[in-house]
Amino acid sequence: MAQTKWRVTVDTDLCIGSGGCVLRAPEGFELDAARQSCPRHAVLGASDEVLDAAENCPVEAITIVEEGSGAAVFPPAD
Ligand code: SF4
Repeated sequence: MAQTKWRVTVDTDLCIGSGGCVLRAPEGFELDAARQSCPRHAVLGASDEVLDAAENCPVEAITIVEEGSGAAVFPPAD
């Protein structure tokens, strides 16, 4: 079965540049010159580290949806 792919976005209006996501998931995020978080890839494989980063972002700037279906991963739909 193909690995689940996630589409990851960061709301730069919310991001305060804490760097927490880069520490938790360096393969998923980097800080740009303005200390704004950027996903390294718009689409990446599902990853506990990336989900952990999204869950722990202090301003909930990170959104993850399943590529293809668009189903919410974080924040969870409820
Ligand atoms: S954890 Fe959140 S606020 Fe901190 S750099 Fe990442 S996206 Fe920005």
